[in-house]
Amino acid sequence: MNTESTPEHFLRAWVDVDLGALLRNARAAARQSQRPLIPMVKADAYGLGAIPVARALEAVDPLAFGVSSIAEGTELREAGIQRPIIVFTPTLPVDLPRMRAAGLTPTLDDEAGIRAWDALGGGAWHLAIDTGMHRAGALWDEVESLAEVLRTSPPAGVFTHFHSAELGDGSLERQEERFRVALGRLPARPALVHSDNSAAITRRSPSPWDCVRPGVFLYGVDTGPLAAIHPEQVARFRARIVEIHTIADGESVSYDATFHAHGERRIATLACGYADGYRRHSSNVGRALVNGHEVPVAGIVTMDMLMLDVTDAPCKVGDAATLMGSDDGATLTVDAVAARAGVSPYELLTGLRQRVERRYLGAPAV
Ligand SMILES: *Cc1c(COP(=O)(O)O)cnc(C)c1O
Repeated sequence: MNTESTPEHFLRAWVDVDLGALLRNARAAARQSQRPLIPMVKADAYGLGAIPVARALEAVDPLAFGVSSIAEGTELREAGIQRPIIVFTPTLPVDLPRMRAAGLTPTLDDEAGIRAWDALGGGAWHLAIDTGMHRAGALWDEVESLAEVLRTSPPAGVFTHFHSAELGDGSLERQEERFRVALGRLPARPALVHSDNSAAITRRSPSPWDCVRPGVFLYGVDTGPLAAIHPEQVARFRARIVEIHTIADGESVSYDATFHAHGERRIATLACGYADGYRRHSSNVGRALVNGHEVPVAGIVTMDMLMLDVTDAPCKVGDAATLMGSDDGATLTVDAVAARAGVSPYELLTGLRQRVERRYLGAPAV
């Protein structure tokens, strides 16, 4: 798994995105929930590229796509995505004309916003209900105050968001109960009721509502011990070995000299650093795969380069090292790499920087 089929310009660091695995994860989520999907492709599809990801997911016939801003939705529209695109972060009324012009679906939760949307000519929107996350949405026990405006401007959908579905601490059940109470107080049941994120999808089957909103599961992140289904890895973060040095006993590696050679060591330099999204917190604790061998990060991760101790891993300049994902049968999962980097898997994926080119593999025939 070295240089063979890698195009010339992938000489530095890049991310292989396995669209076949993405699609299999999406199908697994649909099978488990027995519901159509609203795939969350916000934050550039969790760093993997919203346009190619959305195009690949067309194959599962999603109900809509979920994004977090007008700009993200506009990017998908300009790429030719025709399905509904729902913007899940609250939009201020001043931005609603842009939302409408872009052909996007807002999520609203107060009378001023609903009336402003209506005054623009209306169109589909979803009502956000806060059942305990306390981030966005109308409070579950205050939705009655919206009854009048909901009668004149009924939403196409209504949803809530779970804060700890992966914990199994009873909070999902409490939030669901509040959601049911809120639904019962709406003047009419909207056509699309939805609540489940990846963690909820993976732990219950079928989903109790009309559609589900998977995010991180699609991109290969396991949702923990309660999950009945587990995703395939989708992203493989790789970087090229650009130099190899043999250093003498007692010599140090990188800034602040935090790594010291015990005996002679072979140190490989990768053309990848924290400005590529490989976290500095992985200094001296990160692991990489080199030609099937797992090797440690040596010293502090710098902006543009990092070093590996490859004393026990045969390799040469020009070989690719794998920082995340599978290589020759071994795998560094997103979760494992994130744990060593001291971040959540969400942060690790969305922190992959633009200068790391994305390469798309296994593009399904649509
Ligand atoms: C991000 C998000 C999701 C998806 O969450 P995952 O944990 O990535 O599955 C679902 N719903 C809303 C409202 C979100 O903001």
